[in-house]
Amino acid sequence: MAQSGMRDPGETERGHGLVLVVDDDKMMRLLARQSLERAGFVVVEAADGTDALTAFDEHLPDVVLLDVQMPGMDGFETCRTLRESTTGRFTPVMMMTGLDDVESIEQAYEAGATDFINKPLNWLVLGHRLEYILRSSRSAERLRLSQAKLANAQRIAKLGYWEWVPGKDRLFSSGELRRIFGMPEGHRPSSLQELALFVHEDQRQQFLSAVDELLEGTPIVDFEYRIRTADGAERFVRQHAEALLGESGHLTRVTGTIQDVTEQREAEEKARYMAYYDGITGLPNRRSFTETLERFLEDPRFRTDATAVLFVDLDRLNQVNESLGRSAGDELVRQAALRIVKCVRSTDLVARAARDHHQHLVSRFDGDEFVILLTHLADIDATAMIAQRLGEALAEPFAVAGQEIFVTANIGIGIFSHDGDTAEQLLRNAHLAAEHAKETEGRSCQFYTESLNEAARERLTLEADLRRALDRGELELNYQPQFRVADNSIVGAEALLRWHHSELGTISPAVFIPLAEEIGLIHEVGEWVLETACRQARRWQEQYDGRFRIAANISNRQFLGSGLLPTVRRVLSGTGLDPRFLELELTESVILGADDNELSQLAELRALGLKLAIDDFGTGYSSLSYLTRFPVDALKIDRSFIRDVPGLPQKEAIAKAIIAMGQSLGLRVIAEGVETAAQLHFLRGLDCDEQQGFLMAEPMTAADLSQRLAEGLSAGHRSAAG
Ligand code: C2E
Ligand code: MG
Ligand code: MG
Repeated sequence: MAQSGMRDPGETERGHGLVLVVDDDKMMRLLARQSLERAGFVVVEAADGTDALTAFDEHLPDVVLLDVQMPGMDGFETCRTLRESTTGRFTPVMMMTGLDDVESIEQAYEAGATDFINKPLNWLVLGHRLEYILRSSRSAERLRLSQAKLANAQRIAKLGYWEWVPGKDRLFSSGELRRIFGMPEGHRPSSLQELALFVHEDQRQQFLSAVDELLEGTPIVDFEYRIRTADGAERFVRQHAEALLGESGHLTRVTGTIQDVTEQREAEEKARYMAYYDGITGLPNRRSFTETLERFLEDPRFRTDATAVLFVDLDRLNQVNESLGRSAGDELVRQAALRIVKCVRSTDLVARAARDHHQHLVSRFDGDEFVILLTHLADIDATAMIAQRLGEALAEPFAVAGQEIFVTANIGIGIFSHDGDTAEQLLRNAHLAAEHAKETEGRSCQFYTESLNEAARERLTLEADLRRALDRGELELNYQPQFRVADNSIVGAEALLRWHHSELGTISPAVFIPLAEEIGLIHEVGEWVLETACRQARRWQEQYDGRFRIAANISNRQFLGSGLLPTVRRVLSGTGLDPRFLELELTESVILGADDNELSQLAELRALGLKLAIDDFGTGYSSLSYLTRFPVDALKIDRSFIRDVPGLPQKEAIAKAIIAMGQSLGLRVIAEGVETAAQLHFLRGLDCDEQQGFLMAEPMTAADLSQRLAEGLSAGHRSAAG
């Protein structure tokens, strides 16, 4: 290798640039050096291809002047080798070719030369040529660098880029875009439609509409959407798309950026969570609750009177904080929150059936305050019941920091729209009611409106009283005899429940049976009725009439589930009554609403040998055809059809149809509420099987019916019906 005047390139001045001159002809090198140094370049020389590569690595020249014909490795091969190396990939190479040697020129370009110059060289212009080639290579280098910087910046910003030429339907996409979408290395999406497949289903249409908008002339479309990446992750991206118009004003291409904003969104979500939820209980906080309540009350679908706000104030939190420390206080709050949520969740029973609309919301409002939104309640009483349950649940001791802690909850109730039309009013009044409860001795739950307190108190008292009524022996069965229409003989009796309340007197079953259903007491009450009625029937059978039949009413909720069958079995075996003489009165709705399980329960009951009757028949459904599908024995025509016969042709027709229809299906038909001789006469004309009503006998005590049966015996009216 020949070289001259050179210092280490790391520290040398490079003048206009460092030129590596490669030529086997020493003379040529010398002339080139003189010419170039004059033009301000620094020169390094190499005598052949191998030397050139070594010199290149050592000096990293700015430009190479390379002869084509050299012994050993020629210029073409030297150039190719340089281009394959990492350092020599972009350095401009000027090849010296023979004049008009077209083949060499082509070969030079193929080998990766930047330009060529003809031999013999014009020494005067050589410097200018190299100057020029260097300048353009530097600007290419700058562009390369800035592109690399841009790509890097885009990677950091997670900013992808795409460009689309609508007519051609070809999509250019940047590497970062493909990375955001999780596409495998080397994959190129071919269309916007392909990108659309990554968009979350709910937003795909929106994405495609945005594309349409651009096509239709909207210059800029910005929006955000969720994608599921090729590797299955969910990401949020923000898209900015622009339509570019050509000179004639028509759309030539659409470009867009897509930025991955997942982290921002997640951070925002976290911030939102912190702004809307309580960190200790995870419940919505005051702000979130208030906003929800406002929205709720503004929505006409939800603006019903069956909406209430409960304000729950715990009274011991401050003391716990002070004596046991803050973390104990937090623990108390957490446990209380759990109890409240559980209580409220189990109140579905008191809400109306519209399950899909109904929603309860518990919120931690402030330190020791919780607020609950109750919606779609059955009635106002339900609110008082929930409040009472809450009070009971919170009155149980809490185990905190190894201690038993007792808490009293003061609960204030605000009823929409009674106590306020807006969220603010409702909350304020519920709060006031809670304060009021705190001040009122012996009262931990308070309606904002005083009159409601009275109603609720009555209801709660009644509930408590009913729980005790069984023990206190306040329940009694009355019996209303049932007669065969043909000869007026007694065939049996319906057992009707009475509640002799110590203060309120006798309460109608129409009032307390629904209450018993609601508070879950119906099973106990129902079993008592069955047991008492069957035992009584047994006694009458022994004393007066071996075929005496007893009918007992079964309420809807008593039938639901699977508890009735075992109860009936137990009662029958306990009392020894022959099942043939027991008739259960069920409502149409029970029979029609029965699911498979309940239907098979009906069948099993009947398989025991007892009879099933449909009570109040005709009030529920007009279609009689369903009767053929259910296992029943008797129909009781509702009183409302008997009241107006004879006389009202429509009612007459219905009564007639029910009797004819029932009998044609082999069912026994019983008319209820027969009060006049004309009604009885009418029924007799239609061959109705049996009847009960005030005309022959009102419901009476067991003692009275015993007497009646005894008289019947002595009068020779002994019945043989069954
Ligand atoms: P229900 O099963 O339809 O009972 C017939 C009702 O009609 C009884 O009312 C009876 O006193 C009344 N009644 C009978 N004859 C006449 C009449 O000629 N004219 C008029 N106006 N009324 C008459 P009660 O005893 O007040 O019972 C009302 C309802 O309470 C019963 O209707 C039944 O659904 C329910 N119920 C009564 N006892 C029980 C029971 O032990 N268990 C269940 N689950 N429900 C019962
Ligand atoms: Mg009945
Ligand atoms: Mg009835």
